Amino acid sequence: MKRRINITEVKFILTVLLCIFFISGNAFAQKNTLTKDEITSAVKEAYDKFKNVSEGKNADYIPALAEVNPNIFGISVVTAEGDVIEFGDINDMVSMQSIEKVFAMAMVIDEMGADALKEKIGVDATGMKFNAIEPIEWKKGKEMNPCVNPGALSTTSLIRGANYDEKWNNIITKYSEFAGRDLTVNQPVYESEAATNQRNQALAHLLFAYERMYYDPVQTTDIYTKACAINVNAKDLGMMAATLCNGGVNPVTGKTVVSPETVEHVLAVMVTAGLYDDSGIWLYDTGMPGKSGVGGGIIAVAPGKLGIGVISPPLDDVGNSVKAQYVIKYLSEKLGLNMYSVQPKK
Ligand code: GLU
Repeated sequence: MKRRINITEVKFILTVLLCIFFISGNAFAQKNTLTKDEITSAVKEAYDKFKNVSEGKNADYIPALAEVNPNIFGISVVTAEGDVIEFGDINDMVSMQSIEKVFAMAMVIDEMGADALKEKIGVDATGMKFNAIEPIEWKKGKEMNPCVNPGALSTTSLIRGANYDEKWNNIITKYSEFAGRDLTVNQPVYESEAATNQRNQALAHLLFAYERMYYDPVQTTDIYTKACAINVNAKDLGMMAATLCNGGVNPVTGKTVVSPETVEHVLAVMVTAGLYDDSGIWLYDTGMPGKSGVGGGIIAVAPGKLGIGVISPPLDDVGNSVKAQYVIKYLSEKLGLNMYSVQPKK
């Protein structure tokens, strides 16, 4: 005898179908609709267009950075699907410098939660130069931003680990997972900055006085300095950015590095202060969360689509790589990466 399906079963089937519809709809909305060929030709155009730009100057307040070859120019785009598009000097390495701040912040949010970062450090832009001491004094160590030095030093002090070695191992392991390969430290850059980082030591001690430094200030400054000296090439930066664009999963290794919720908060803080005092201009021009470092690298993230890493050491007055800014702005326009861009329905 045939059995009729009852109303409860019908409701259940409809609910399952609706769920499938919404989940696949959402996946479709996030899907990268750019082809590898489209990205490749845009990257090649950007490389050719900007390769002869000679504006800017290497950072020299860290003596070893002045020695870096200013002609290094590498571009890497890694999509959420794991396609890698590279151009130029893709094997030449520079130190991450401030770009590392993004990944320290990601570790702390992932381990302690988004509220902990907001309460223990702060997420508003200080609106001042990246190593300014005034915001600490004005706000008594509160409301620092993890993308500039005071907030980054506090963030580093929150990295999990019972001692210096454990904290450092957690950092290098996690950053390597973001990059999908074992990263190492540029020893001359580390030693050069460690010998000249009195200003960062002062920031760490002042934060300590305001009880916003959660581990020993001397060791914290040293861990931070070493993290800034981690060597990366353009592909590493592209891959690290792509892991963020892909909700915390490295699109090539498939490793879950941090949670999608962590990435939401990380990208938001990058928007507030990723390009120092020019963060507003950057967002206006590109519509992408980005982070630069005085080593000459910039990363940018098109959520759900792709990550970009560009290296070119000469910087503008604010401290951002001149060519990297040109390239990413060009790619944003050419490939429609501005995350605020909306096509009207009618
Ligand atoms: N290690 C550098 C410093 O603390 C990083 C600065 C940067 O890239 O913005 O001065």
